[in-house]
Amino acid sequence: MEGYEYLSQSVETAEDAGTAGRIFCANCIHCKLVPAPADAEGSYRLRVRCEAGKWRKKLGDEKVYKYFTVARRNIESCDSYEDMGDAVEFIKDLRKLLPSTDELYTP
Ligand code: SF4
Repeated sequence: MEGYEYLSQSVETAEDAGTAGRIFCANCIHCKLVPAPADAEGSYRLRVRCEAGKWRKKLGDEKVYKYFTVARRNIESCDSYEDMGDAVEFIKDLRKLLPSTDELYTP
């Protein structure tokens, strides 16, 4: 999709996958929101990246995810995880706020 690959085997994407005891990347201080330039001049879409460099494609390039999917990113364990509070409440609130599609933003 738009040049990004979703090849990670360690970060699950299924929203309904068993998440008990798992880490939500969105609740980690290293999960950062970044703009990605879109086709129209000055417009952009929102992406999330792991500032700790944990999200990688199979060939080693950094992988980013679409912002609207960020609440689905969870991982069994991560030695760089730094939580920003209670994950359950945070993810619940985040899901209410996230856009439902990959929205285009213009300045
Ligand atoms: S450091 Fe680990 S828990 Fe935090 S965003 Fe990166 S992969 Fe997720």
